Amino acid sequence: MTVLPLYNVILVPESNLYIQTDSYKRMTGVDPQVQERLILVAEKEKKSRENLKEEDLYPIGLAGIITEVNSNGYMVIRTKKRADITDLTIFSDHTISVTANKREDIESEPVDEEEERKRLDKLKKAIVEYASRFQWGSLTRTYIAQLSSISEVAAVMSPWLYNSPIDRYEILAEDDKNKRIDRLEKMIYENIEMSKIGTEAATAQEEDYQKIYRESALKKQIQYMQKELDDMHPENVSDVRRFEIAIDEAGMNPEAEKEARKVLNRLKQEGQNTPESGSLYDYLDFVTSLSWKKEEQKNIDLDEAQKVLDEDHSGLKKVKERIIQQVAVMNFKQQQSGSILLFVGAPGTGKTSIGKSIARALGRKYVRVALGGVRDEAEIRGHRRTYIGAMAGRIMDGIRKAGVSNPVMVLDEIDKLSNSYNGDPASALLEVLDPEQNNTFTDHYMNVPYNLSDVMFICTANSLDTIPSPLLNRMEVIQFQGYTPIEKKQIARDHLIPKAYEKVGIKPEQLVISDEIIDTIISDYTMEGGVRGLKKRIDTLCRVAAVELQRNHKDCVTVEKEKLRDYLDMHPMHNNKVKEKGKAGIITGLAWTAAGGAILYIETLMTKGKGKVTVTGQLGDVMKESTQIAVSLVKALYPSKSELFEKNDIHIHFPDGSTPKDGPSAGITLVTALSSLVSDTPVTPQVAMTGEVSLNGSVNPIGGLPEKLMAAQRAGVKHVFIPEENMDDLRDVAQEVKDALEITPAKEITDVLGALKIPVENPKLKNE
Ligand code: ADP
Repeated sequence: MTVLPLYNVILVPESNLYIQTDSYKRMTGVDPQVQERLILVAEKEKKSRENLKEEDLYPIGLAGIITEVNSNGYMVIRTKKRADITDLTIFSDHTISVTANKREDIESEPVDEEEERKRLDKLKKAIVEYASRFQWGSLTRTYIAQLSSISEVAAVMSPWLYNSPIDRYEILAEDDKNKRIDRLEKMIYENIEMSKIGTEAATAQEEDYQKIYRESALKKQIQYMQKELDDMHPENVSDVRRFEIAIDEAGMNPEAEKEARKVLNRLKQEGQNTPESGSLYDYLDFVTSLSWKKEEQKNIDLDEAQKVLDEDHSGLKKVKERIIQQVAVMNFKQQQSGSILLFVGAPGTGKTSIGKSIARALGRKYVRVALGGVRDEAEIRGHRRTYIGAMAGRIMDGIRKAGVSNPVMVLDEIDKLSNSYNGDPASALLEVLDPEQNNTFTDHYMNVPYNLSDVMFICTANSLDTIPSPLLNRMEVIQFQGYTPIEKKQIARDHLIPKAYEKVGIKPEQLVISDEIIDTIISDYTMEGGVRGLKKRIDTLCRVAAVELQRNHKDCVTVEKEKLRDYLDMHPMHNNKVKEKGKAGIITGLAWTAAGGAILYIETLMTKGKGKVTVTGQLGDVMKESTQIAVSLVKALYPSKSELFEKNDIHIHFPDGSTPKDGPSAGITLVTALSSLVSDTPVTPQVAMTGEVSLNGSVNPIGGLPEKLMAAQRAGVKHVFIPEENMDDLRDVAQEVKDALEITPAKEITDVLGALKIPVENPKLKNE
């Protein structure tokens, strides 16, 4: 008879035991045979067959018979009655032999079958209910249902029970059958309860995770409710809370958000009303009022844009054309900014106001940043926050004012930037305008990058001379030449007068300003390339009319030419007009200045002396050189007068020296003035000229021709000499100006002198 040692199995009589065929073989050393009778003995601890000793086995066993060996690797043993093991020997080949006697049960009370069935059903129910918590639970239901006794249930459940080997053996050792069943029942119920606690613990852990999710959901809910409350009572929202919301909603880049939260935490710790809190507050106020969101790229209709530009400004055809090109390129490239435009021209020519108009045409915000007089780098790039009273620079301040990340920003008077010991503002501007760098422009005050690449920059300047070349190289220059009288009249009619009426609040029918009046204002009361003065005069007329309308209870005021002087309360600028009669040695020159074109009279005089040359007036070094060239040239033109030059001093004066003139282009004027002096030939001031002259007498080209010719026309000049090489530039000059002037090209200085009938001794300029 085979002895089968088993570990941790509940051995109950009259039940089925399912075990793996392999473990049977391991523990017995033989293959299972159906119908084979067995003695099952319980091990005190788990041992292999080789190490098993007699004392490792409990003394009460169980008889059994193999009823099934299936192909799934399992076998079924039907257990019978209990047995007392009286003699047990383990041989050296590990086979076990036993002597066993049947051990009878005691039945203290007769088993109440009905009662036992109820108990069995209840137990099965408890097991099924418990198992239903698990995925495999539904499988057990049918299986458990087939079991016909509590013992069988216990045998089936055996592998899942927590109980120790001794607990299990004690059930086998229990002689009273009823008690044994009671114990089994109790053991199963206990196990179910223990499992429940285990599962509850596991569930509790799961709940911990759930708690985290719940917590974040709750937080979100609180935030939402807080926001609702804030919206309902904005007056109660604290600064800290306000900044918290603003930071959450601003859409800042990660660096900026990190910095803002850091400062906010400092503000929380500092509390309010401490010295530090003020600057923290200012910082947060600044960064949260910037727009950090990328604005949508809009496709601009070119015709619409043109319409807007035409509405706001008369004339400026070329400028508008260039702007439309820029818009077209931006549409194509899907960019919000393109090349940086630099508008150069005299004051009042519409440079700044067209910037505003461009913004309107593009449907974007407009902001103007004045750069005139900026000499400190920090004004562009901001002060570091460690300074007391630190502020952001003008660029970021402009962005804040605009309230968007893609405004049209006009950097006004870029030629008026100056340098100082506090760094070079131009180099800071270079960074602002450099498309490679300006997407991470870092203002010192903000200390975090901001993307300026969507900003459309437009710069304005009166003159290119003072703009540092690295800055100039970044920009595309567009010239604003100034307006002719006819253009000015048009601007006055279409724009300045309607705006002035509106500003003063009078109706067009209450004030009549005739075309003749406008012409007179333009010719006699202004002397400018732009329309600033004209605008001021018109504004004055409107204010004076407003007083007259009220004081004299009039319905309408008509401005009369005779009264114009009184109305405007100024002298006509007749003395700025050229006279008819000239004197020897005085010639009208044409100059280009930052305020547009201007005329200037070059005066020369000879006094007894020793051949000294004195130059007065506000002059640059270039001008001094030009005078030396001119003097040498004149000496060469009049070889017989060498004594005159030796025994006299020459004084050259540039009156109206308040505007710095451009030097070389006065060359031919100087030579002509000196020649006129030497030959004692007066020239009418109504002849004007511009041109550089070389030592061999040839006339070289100059710049700013349109502005100069307009100035000539304004001043009443009739005839001008210009370098022959500049004749091409006449394309850019308004027809009206060309009609008003006789324009003579000059190749050699002798062409000019000849035309003016100034006698010359040595026209070929040969050395003698
Ligand atoms: P700038 O910036 O060149 O000094 P502004 O843009 O300040 O000149 O212009 C001065 C005034 O003249 C503004 O009121 C502007 O509207 C007006 N103005 C200048 N040019 C024109 C024009 N072509 N059409 C209509 N108004 C003009």
